[in-house]
Amino acid sequence: MDTAQLAQALKDRFEADRFFGADALPVRIPTAQSQTAARPAQSSQPVVRLQQLDETKINDRVERLRVIDNDEVKGCTKCGLHQTRDKTVFGVGHAAARLMFVGEGPGRDENASGEPFVGKAGQLLTKMIEAGMGLKREDVYICNIVKCWPPDNRNPAPDEVHACKNYLLRQIEIINPDVIVALGAPAAQTLLGTSDGIGRLRSNWHDFYASGSRLVGAPIPVMPTYHPAYLLRSPDEKKKSWADLKMVMAKLGLPVPGR
Ligand code: SF4
Repeated sequence: MDTAQLAQALKDRFEADRFFGADALPVRIPTAQSQTAARPAQSSQPVVRLQQLDETKINDRVERLRVIDNDEVKGCTKCGLHQTRDKTVFGVGHAAARLMFVGEGPGRDENASGEPFVGKAGQLLTKMIEAGMGLKREDVYICNIVKCWPPDNRNPAPDEVHACKNYLLRQIEIINPDVIVALGAPAAQTLLGTSDGIGRLRSNWHDFYASGSRLVGAPIPVMPTYHPAYLLRSPDEKKKSWADLKMVMAKLGLPVPGR
């Protein structure tokens, strides 16, 4: 590795650490912005956080989501996971979100609280959204492919995913986000109907058709990336996840560090 490659590798690593919420870097890394006074600051770019909808439309979406949660999910017994859950975990976020995160299923903390991604992995996801992407957690929508905790945090079984999938499809249909980020293999495989692993799927855009048919409706772009729980176990993979999220930011027209 020559000096330039080493410098780039260090820069990528530091940038990924900052993305995941590190408060400070051990050295100051010069950026193209800091070296080019004439270039406008990234903060001057307009940031469109939400779909531009009127209040009536947003309230309609909120109500439709509330009805599915209250009237169907909270009392659902369509698969065996209902026997061991404490609380169902439907989803949180803005009904006009441009960005939707989909994970595999609630964990122990989420089972207790009823809110997705509140444990350690959830705290990392929040850092990715806020410190990395420059959004607020409440600007995005966060949910899972199954709404009840698979005991011992195992992956949901195929029959459980099949039983629960319709709730997710209706959440996507109502929110109609500009981009979906699939967190981990079970979420990506469920959305994309593939058995490919996350290492093969990530870093590329895929199409999701809410209608279930490539012939009906416009696709929603899906970016698969690693689940935050995996990143906690494998911190060296953070830079790959940051690269994926930078592609998402570019797709959404958000300011991307280093560009
Ligand atoms: Fe119903 Fe989904 Fe919970 Fe299974 S995981 S009981 S299908 S809400």
